[in-house]
Amino acid sequence: MLLAVIEAEEGALTAASAGAVARAHALAGEMDVPVAAVAFAAAGDLSTDLAKHGVSTAYVLEHELLGEYSPERWGEALAALIRQVEPGGVLAAASHRGNELMAQAAARTGLPLATNCLAVATGDPWTLTRQRVGGVLLENAELRAPVKLVTLAPGGAEVVPPDPVDGEVELRRFEPPLDEGMAHTALVERTAGGESGVTLATARVVVSGGRGVGSAEGFAVLEELAGLVGGAVGCSRVATNNGWRPHSNQVGLTGTKIAPDLYIACGISGATQHWVGCMDAKTILAINTDDQAPMVTRAAYAVIGDVQEVLPAVIEEIKRR
Ligand code: FAD
Repeated sequence: MLLAVIEAEEGALTAASAGAVARAHALAGEMDVPVAAVAFAAAGDLSTDLAKHGVSTAYVLEHELLGEYSPERWGEALAALIRQVEPGGVLAAASHRGNELMAQAAARTGLPLATNCLAVATGDPWTLTRQRVGGVLLENAELRAPVKLVTLAPGGAEVVPPDPVDGEVELRRFEPPLDEGMAHTALVERTAGGESGVTLATARVVVSGGRGVGSAEGFAVLEELAGLVGGAVGCSRVATNNGWRPHSNQVGLTGTKIAPDLYIACGISGATQHWVGCMDAKTILAINTDDQAPMVTRAAYAVIGDVQEVLPAVIEEIKRR
């Protein structure tokens, strides 16, 4: 059996999880084994969506300590399920949570974990192509283990999604042995990311600023443009380090990796550690005073000029239309 760990938002699988489920089905087809999803939430609510994504069986991890996400508790719960089911492999989306959860499960079961894989082929051993250094390098690797743990990066080979399941999803309830002392972190507070409700990770347009924006106040013009186009504001690490923007806005290796339709990079040089966070954008527009900045030379479009002059002109033109 192959297990596909799913993440859900508002009663539906995330796009990344749906991709992981589809790839689990493709690999299970090669191996001629069944697939089951692994859910932590109230999976009963997800049944319809699971069926839509071709899942006929789901393990539901239930315990009073599994309410809020806790890497240690959720990781131990997944490890307990792996020990019980002994699947051939476990796949999850290479999201922040997916990577963390699988790392916890790997450490607790003593199994190796291959993260951020773009391609996976079953066989003995499994062969993988995985992203390193935020995706700048690709590595071909072999994975030998009784249970293969793999997280799947976005942008891998497309697979044909399985046909929807007709009828009920079989929910197998599993209560892992957990105790209070297991978690070393506790959720203290949760605050909404953006006033507009558009998050950096999912926005189709991201207006992002770096050192060239000049100050925290300088971001007002980026916020205005993002608001006009229904986008989100992003930033470079310099903007975060200077206290101009919160870390949740940071794009890059130590920030968020995004793939919007349009990325507007304002006063950002395009250092490798930033580039790996935005290189999957469909189109990049760079606004920069330096026509030789890496972001400018890699972008599809560039405006050479001062961000505080160019953006107000763009905003004025959008408003005029
Ligand atoms: P700079 O490199 O200083 O570039 C500023 C740009 O603004 C220049 O191109 C300049 O021509 C232009 N400019 C100046 N004035 C104007 C103006 N008025 N109008 C228009 N353009 C102007 N960085 C990240 O962003 N994200 C990460 O996740 C990240 N992780 C890192 C992890 C590690 C381990 C390390 C070592 C570094 C990391 N960095 C990261 C930092 C990264 O290496 C760069 O230092 C950073 O991205 C540079 O930010 P910047 O482009 O804003 O600044």
